Amino acid sequence: MSMNNHTGMCIYCKESNDFNTEHVISAGLGGDDNNYKLDGLVCFECNSKLFSGLEATLLRHSLVGLARWHNQPKGRGKSFSRYSANGSVLIDSEERLFLEIDYACSGEFTILPQVIFKNDSETKYSASSLAPLVSFGEKALNILKQNNVSVISKNKNSCPASFLISNYVISENKFKSDGTFTLSKPPALGIWLEPLTSKDKDGISYHSRLFQMKDGQIVLKIKDNSKIEYYLERLRKSLPEVADMEAGVVSKKFERPVIGSSSMWSGECDRAIAKIGFNLLIHNMGSIFASHPCFDDVKSSILTGNPKLPCSLGDGKNIVEVLENPPSDSHVIMMASGTSQDGGIYLVVLFRFYGMGTQTVFLARDNVPHHIETMIYTVRYNEHKISESTLSDYLIANYDLVSNAFLPRNE
Ligand SMILES: [Zn+2]
Repeated sequence: MSMNNHTGMCIYCKESNDFNTEHVISAGLGGDDNNYKLDGLVCFECNSKLFSGLEATLLRHSLVGLARWHNQPKGRGKSFSRYSANGSVLIDSEERLFLEIDYACSGEFTILPQVIFKNDSETKYSASSLAPLVSFGEKALNILKQNNVSVISKNKNSCPASFLISNYVISENKFKSDGTFTLSKPPALGIWLEPLTSKDKDGISYHSRLFQMKDGQIVLKIKDNSKIEYYLERLRKSLPEVADMEAGVVSKKFERPVIGSSSMWSGECDRAIAKIGFNLLIHNMGSIFASHPCFDDVKSSILTGNPKLPCSLGDGKNIVEVLENPPSDSHVIMMASGTSQDGGIYLVVLFRFYGMGTQTVFLARDNVPHHIETMIYTVRYNEHKISESTLSDYLIANYDLVSNAFLPRNE
C-alpha cells in the first residue's frame, strides 16, 4: 500500500504543518519501532502535542494502563511502565474514613498530605510523614493569604484545553466570590476544584477534603460547590495548626488500597484508542481512502472530543468472541466493515488490550465507499512486534484459541 501523501496536508487536521513520524500503535503499548509507522502523513502538532497527551492518559491513568503495568512492566530499553491512578484511596479503619493516596506503578502507595473535613467542627490531617504535611500546609496557606484566591477547574470537553477560574476575595475574614472567567492556561497559584462524587461505603466516610497531588497541585474535593467560601475560610483558620503538628498524627495501620476508579476511563482514552484505529486504517487502506468525508467525524472526535465517539464495549456477538482468547502476551485488534440496517457501510475497529474486555470504536457509522477485508493485527507487546493477517488466516493460525466462538450455543 502506498504511503504517499496525496495532498501534502496532515491527514488528521488537514493543515500543512511540518510532519514527523507517527507510530501506528504507540511504542508504549508495545508498537513496532521499525515498522508500522506513518511518515509524512501526520503533522507535528497532532502527533507530538495532541496525541502524546492522549496516549499518556491511556497509558498512565486508565484501565489499559493498569493492565499494561501488570503485563508489560518493561518499556523500551531500561524504562519501566508507569501507572498512577488519580482518585485512589485507602481506608483508615481507626477513623473510619477514606484517605487520598498516590498509587504508583511499583505497587507502593503514598498517603498524600491532606486535610479532611470530618464534620463542621472536626478536622483531620494525614500524610505519609510529617514533613510533606507541613510543607503542604505552608503552600496551601500561602495561596489562601493572597488578596485574590483562584479556584480552578478544567472545562470538560474543551479543546484546546481551557480553565474556569473563580476568584475569591477576603474582607473582614469572609471570602466572597469576585467573578468567574475562562483562561487557556491555569494560573500558577491556585486551588484546583474537583467534585466529590464517591459515596460513603460500609460505614467508611468519604468526607470533603483538601489535598496535595504528587505533582504539587492542591485540590479541594467537595460535595457541594456552593460551599467553596466556607471551606476556604475554614482552611485559612485551621491550616496554621499544621505547623505545630507532631509526627504521631500520621503513622497508623491501614487496610488495602482501593485503586481509583474515577479516572480509569475517560473520553481521552476513547480518543487515544480511536486514533490507533484510524492510524491502522491509514496504514491498511492508504491516505486517499482515509481522507474520505465519512471519516470526518472520527477525526474531529480524536482532535477535539467532538462529536462524542461512538464507542462501546463488545456485546458478545461472534465477531467479538473471535478475539476472546488472544494469543498470550498479545493485543489483538480487528478492523472490519459491515452493512447497517439502512444499507450503509460502516467501519469498526475492535480492540483487546492485554486480554481485557473488547473495546469497539466506529471509524464511520455510514457512507464508507466500499467494504474492506477484515484484518486482524496482533501486537506482541513485550517484543514490540506487530503482525497482520486476514480473518481467515488468523482463525486457521489460532484455531484452538478461537474455535469456541463458532460452536453452536445452547440458549
Ligand atoms: Zn495535524
